Amino acid sequence: MYEQFGISEKIINLSKEVEKEVEPVFEKIQKVCEYNSLKVLKAFQNNRISDMHFNQTTGYGYGDIGRDTCERVFADIFRAEDALVRGQFISGTHALTVALFAFLRPGDTMLSITGKPYDTLDEVIGITENPSSLKSYGINFEKIDLVNNNFDYEKIEERLKKGNIKLIEIQRSKGYSTRKSIKISDLEKVIKCIREYDKEVIIMIDNCYCEFVNEREPLEVGADIIVGSLIKNLGGGIAPNGAYIAGKKNLVKLAAERLTVPGEGKEVGPSLGITKSFLQGIFMAPSVVASSLKTAVFASRMLEKLGYQVEPKYDEERADIVQNINFNDATKLIKYCQGIQMGSPIDSDSIPEPWDMPGYTDKVIMAAGTFTQGSSIELSCDGPIRPPYIAFMQGGLTYEYGKIGVLKAIQNME
Ligand SMILES: *Cc1c(COP(=O)(O)O)cnc(C)c1O
Repeated sequence: MYEQFGISEKIINLSKEVEKEVEPVFEKIQKVCEYNSLKVLKAFQNNRISDMHFNQTTGYGYGDIGRDTCERVFADIFRAEDALVRGQFISGTHALTVALFAFLRPGDTMLSITGKPYDTLDEVIGITENPSSLKSYGINFEKIDLVNNNFDYEKIEERLKKGNIKLIEIQRSKGYSTRKSIKISDLEKVIKCIREYDKEVIIMIDNCYCEFVNEREPLEVGADIIVGSLIKNLGGGIAPNGAYIAGKKNLVKLAAERLTVPGEGKEVGPSLGITKSFLQGIFMAPSVVASSLKTAVFASRMLEKLGYQVEPKYDEERADIVQNINFNDATKLIKYCQGIQMGSPIDSDSIPEPWDMPGYTDKVIMAAGTFTQGSSIELSCDGPIRPPYIAFMQGGLTYEYGKIGVLKAIQNME
């Protein structure tokens, strides 16, 4: 069958070798998957999920039992007091934006301790001028960069001693950067440190790409609020859109009143038939995240063996589902991404080309042959066309499809 996909015997043989080597890593991924599956199933049973929860509301969405119970399920899984899980969030960026506008007031200061936040937040924060930014409302932004892939404890302590920080943002996944993603143990350590100086500051986690990668989640190590997208890990490839915010009850209330209306908050917002997809999505998510992780581990070792720099290495502890491949060559990066597209179920005959994208300085190539537009829990790969020509690859609804995609991409590039 592989021959019909134009994949050479040399690459097949290498993949057999690699699959033997990565076996112990796959076993660990499987254990985490099983643990998280137990967590999810427990939450379903404790909340007595039943057929009736798949019903929908329209219009204002008053009394939507399915929506409200689905939010209880999310809250239980993440050890949150409350959660907001809505299709009315159009993206992860939207949920992050709602949270920031909900928690911050004019004169407040937001501090990022993982350097500059994700690119799509530039105009939200006002790092890039925008008349609707937080900055335009008189909200200040400060950042402390990571040093050697770790928190800059000295600078963080120094800044907290001066006081007057309303919110600390921590982005766990690396975004389009070459830093490492933040492990849950490192998150735990920095939160302990923050709390020594400030008991009140809101600790908000951009949790995109990190859910279900480990056994523990940020709220379990002291964070106040987590935010993420449902067309990434937690949607399990089934949620057609949406995002979530979970954590302290008072903060979720503020976020709900910002998403909808002060005084109405979580009480409104019709589910329009999306609840079953959210529930089925989070039910599948532990396994889909495991498939994505296996795909990333397999790709990491394959490409390392072919002589490329990869981050993380196949046997390193992971905090997210993203795999960086350093091609050091524009053509190889482009060919690899085009190969990922060729190995996709949707639009496999389209050839992605580097293009100018809003919000990016360099041209970017994006491969995503996905059922859900822009979904990156499905196998997808992109990279800005600038040295050292790094591909950011993630997703894979099943390991088998992920592996085939990676093999096709390698064949296309070699
Ligand atoms: C994807 C992502 C976002 C934004 O999510 P969108 O749904 O694409 O708007 C924010 N932060 C990180 C770290 C992400 O990976």
